[in-house]
Amino acid sequence: MRRSANQDSYCITLADDREKWERSGHLLIVADGMGAHAAGELASRLSVDLIPHHYAKLNRGDPVGAIHQAMEEANSEIYRRGQANPEFRGMGTTTSALLLLPAGAILAHVGDSRIYRLRGQTLEQLTFDHSLVWEMRASGEVGEEMLRNNAVPKNVITRSLGPNPNVQVDLEGPFPLQNGDRFLLCSDGLSGQLTDEEIGILLGSLDLDMAVRAMIDLANLRGGPDNITVAVAEIRGDELVTKSVLPTPPPEDRPSYPIGFGIAGVVCALAAVVLLMVKQIPLAAVSVAAAFVAGISGWIKMMKFDSSGDRSARLGRGPHRKAQCKPSADFVKQITGVIQELQEWMVESGVQVDQRELDAAIALGKRETAARNYKQAIQYYCEVLTAMMRNARVKADDRDEESIDY
Ligand code: CA
Repeated sequence: MRRSANQDSYCITLADDREKWERSGHLLIVADGMGAHAAGELASRLSVDLIPHHYAKLNRGDPVGAIHQAMEEANSEIYRRGQANPEFRGMGTTTSALLLLPAGAILAHVGDSRIYRLRGQTLEQLTFDHSLVWEMRASGEVGEEMLRNNAVPKNVITRSLGPNPNVQVDLEGPFPLQNGDRFLLCSDGLSGQLTDEEIGILLGSLDLDMAVRAMIDLANLRGGPDNITVAVAEIRGDELVTKSVLPTPPPEDRPSYPIGFGIAGVVCALAAVVLLMVKQIPLAAVSVAAAFVAGISGWIKMMKFDSSGDRSARLGRGPHRKAQCKPSADFVKQITGVIQELQEWMVESGVQVDQRELDAAIALGKRETAARNYKQAIQYYCEVLTAMMRNARVKADDRDEESIDY
């Protein structure tokens, strides 16, 4: 609502067949550029152009290594372009990349553009914001009170692609994929205006297109001070679901094996010493052999345990935040309040709408609210909200307001 330029960029690269998906997965990226004038736009566009390109080129069976390196390559290129032209000096961009692979979801990210996962009614932020607020909270050097009072500016980010010759990329995952999982990537234009709970309720109550539309409309109605980009993905169908990558036996049983063999080895060795002391030489020899076999077996088990441990190794410490997102009377009230304000504004500014159609949806929303079917009520009210915003945008376009760009 306030910006004449869009410094956000995104890309969605879907594997077009099964073999490609198994090798490279689906790739979604959101990037939020920073820098004067065209610099931010250029930085975020370079990021979403370069990363899929380098990823495809570098991926030779190690997608995690390839996405990591692709981010570093993009950083070098954006840095180089920034150095070459004074207009673009110091330009940077956040970049959050989500890879959906047979092994699960892998995330590579720099900056404060977020990646969430909604499973049931639980929304988890899988990325760590590289912002001053998050870093200070993690360091434990400032109290919650100071952070709440906005003593620390919210929009200062501590890491991005481009301003420096080197960058530290965070990797997270793999997060196993389940049928019905919904992933959401967004720039801070969304997460700065909507709470995690609100994002989760909208994402969980609406179909994907409507959820994205309603989130952007709501963020704009709250002032829309920044560019807003939202990308969503839903895991549908069993072939995308992550099959178990761990060999049997289950992980909690495995550590006991090497320990068991170790104990057996020590007992046999002690028995051998005792038998030697009482001059039972043949029995002592058997005990020594048994201790040896137990020791070797334990060692082999331990090596196997180690290597399977590597295969299932988790990157990063995510999820970093969790919110329960149950459709509620409070949230319905929020939405109806916004609708009411918007209606008043539309009457004042003479925006034409088909009021009968809206009234019908509002009546249905009221009925569902009364019956405490909040999810259905949210669906009806969001239809109303997005329809009104569609009309408001037409009106704004008529007035030739360059600040609204859809
Ligand atoms: Ca932004």
